[in-house]
Amino acid sequence: MSVKSAVRAVLKIAFPYQCLRCGAAIGSEGGFCPDCFKKIRFIGSCCPNCGRPVSENERQWGMCAFCKGKKVPKSRFVFIYDDALKSVILKFKYADMTFAVPYFANWMISAGKDVLEDADAVIPVPIHRLRLVRRRYNQAALLAKKIAKIERKEFICNNLQRVRNTSSQGEKSAKERRENVKGAFALRKPSAIAGKKIVIIDDVVTTGATVSECARVLLSAGAAEVRILSLAVVFKS
Ligand SMILES: [Zn+2]
Ligand SMILES: [Zn+2]
Repeated sequence: MSVKSAVRAVLKIAFPYQCLRCGAAIGSEGGFCPDCFKKIRFIGSCCPNCGRPVSENERQWGMCAFCKGKKVPKSRFVFIYDDALKSVILKFKYADMTFAVPYFANWMISAGKDVLEDADAVIPVPIHRLRLVRRRYNQAALLAKKIAKIERKEFICNNLQRVRNTSSQGEKSAKERRENVKGAFALRKPSAIAGKKIVIIDDVVTTGATVSECARVLLSAGAAEVRILSLAVVFKS
């Protein structure tokens, strides 16, 4: 064995795992390399209601600008969705990075203590069945299933349906996004929702139009309360 390959073998034992963002070898499973860790933005102190990061000003006023004058479901997030996180989310959505599910789920459980503790059930934001065929899995459903299992909550799957295959929310304004998802969701069995405190699980919340529409459908079926827990949130300060 050459010195070079011996060194490589030793390094592989010391750093057998891959950074979830750049793929660099790291010593522990399910994390980021030091470089990526510096770039990724975890949410620190957040608004007790909407879960978005609060500025020093907002802390002094005791309110968050996003929540002001709006009825926002109680929400919690792990990361701020920005250019640094984008590649992680895209790999998770489209490139079979399903091995990351347990790590993401555990981060979400830590960030989401307030919304999970007395909840009865978790529901993933559904994707349309045509999209499911193309992508093979719904990343929000994988997260919800794992969270339900660890937290011993009911996992409500295939009840909330995306009945309309909406166009991409990509370049749309907040108002256009709300219009786009109106009537896009329906429940197969509304009676299974009644009286329950439910946590909607998603991977990225942008304007909140999609999760709000899901929440509206669940509340109209008699859910006692609806909350949101997502891996990331788009936040412009
Ligand atoms: Zn990295
Ligand atoms: Zn807020």
